[in-house]
Amino acid sequence: MKDFLSESPREECGIMGIFAPNEDVARMAFFGLFALQHRGQEAAGIAVSDGQSMSLHKDTGLVSNVFTAMNLSKLSGHYAIGHTRYSTTGSSSARNAQPYMIETMHGPLALGHNGNLVNSSELRDGLLRDGVGLSSSSDTEVMTMMLARANGETWDDRIRDCMRKWKGAYSLVILTRDCVYAIRDPWGFRPLSVGILPSGGSAAASETGALRTLGCEAIREVKPGEIVTLSNKALIVNQALKPMSPLALCVFEHIYFSRPDAVWDGRNVHHVRQRLGEELARENGFGPGFADVVIPVPDSSTPSAIGFSRATGIPYNDGFIKNRYVGRTFIEPTDSLRKRGVALKFNVINENVLNKRVVMIDDSIVRGNTTGPLIRLLRNAGAAEVHVVITCPPIKHPCFMGVDMGVYDDLIAHKRSIEEIRQLSGADSLYFLSLNGMMRAVGRKAGYCQACFTGEYPIDLDIMNAKTGFEQSMK
Ligand code: SF4
Repeated sequence: MKDFLSESPREECGIMGIFAPNEDVARMAFFGLFALQHRGQEAAGIAVSDGQSMSLHKDTGLVSNVFTAMNLSKLSGHYAIGHTRYSTTGSSSARNAQPYMIETMHGPLALGHNGNLVNSSELRDGLLRDGVGLSSSSDTEVMTMMLARANGETWDDRIRDCMRKWKGAYSLVILTRDCVYAIRDPWGFRPLSVGILPSGGSAAASETGALRTLGCEAIREVKPGEIVTLSNKALIVNQALKPMSPLALCVFEHIYFSRPDAVWDGRNVHHVRQRLGEELARENGFGPGFADVVIPVPDSSTPSAIGFSRATGIPYNDGFIKNRYVGRTFIEPTDSLRKRGVALKFNVINENVLNKRVVMIDDSIVRGNTTGPLIRLLRNAGAAEVHVVITCPPIKHPCFMGVDMGVYDDLIAHKRSIEEIRQLSGADSLYFLSLNGMMRAVGRKAGYCQACFTGEYPIDLDIMNAKTGFEQSMK
């Protein structure tokens, strides 16, 4: 399944872990994954341990397709990890679904990963040379196999041993017979937080919203380089690796990926997005005379449109109604339906744009497949002018740290000027937020990865050989 109508960058995964004695952890993980569904809609899985044995259920599809009351009832225990994922065309989604679960000489082991290792080819070759068989192209399988044969007396030691060899983005949940570990790479690329459950157990999740869904309190981020252990001895925090200086948190979590109720780097994402809209207005000097109405491309741009409207005095209104489900189907559209393109996903409220000068605010332009069609929808609905404002700078470089933006040739801004993009899209005018404006809205000067805008990657990598943040198919 792929969202054939989306051109937004895709986050690879959402992860969660739970330790909850005397609770139905599989059901808790199910509801936690529900709150992370937006981070990965291709496959889902939950692994559970009862302190002795481990069981797993995973498959392709949405969380609600993959799990039933029947298969959840077979996952009994006190410890659970869960995963939602994206894959891409060509990848065998079922084979690459997570968590990965294997038997090791230290007992069962399962792992769920959000991110992408930039040295996975090298690590993979090392495993194959040592006679370790691999069944998929996934760096997560490489990580699982490395953990199984790592040096150390305890799982904590073995995780540390591997962290020293892993290079790139990894927020992880690891399940052993009697522990759940939550781990974040020393650059801090991907989010991960932990919290205390009302029942006395604890949980970890990619986003704080999923923890709040479970009723967690005392929520804190897993800090870069930390291993947090969720077990019957409460939360144990260990700084396994020194955090990198500067850190490289993914700024796209603020712009697009995270749900607006998430707190990322201590900042509420909804508020950051409002400030992105305010900065766009401020740095371009827009005022009430610029247009008649500002409309967001739902959903991620709604807070930015509120901020833009507040800063300019241009009234905010809804212009698009989005069908959130049509792109998430296994059923491919007929050719005639496919030609309708974004019109299959968005309807315009004609009365809100008729004869109006419209500002359309969107989070990003990646391949440029949807901006033009959205503008045409507005013009067909009678908009007098369509001005497009984007809440980040032009994306000119691919991501190698776990986000699918495609390769250089896919990116519309890689070799084109803003004026060329405007002409291609058919907008009356087009504005991108500057790098400085974006960071002012975030409220930090440093500590964030901005490589997709600048080409300055926070890790040394061999661009010719590094995979982008998604998997190649194994032939
Ligand atoms: S390259 Fe862009 S999408 Fe990838 S981690 Fe950096 S900021 Fe995030």
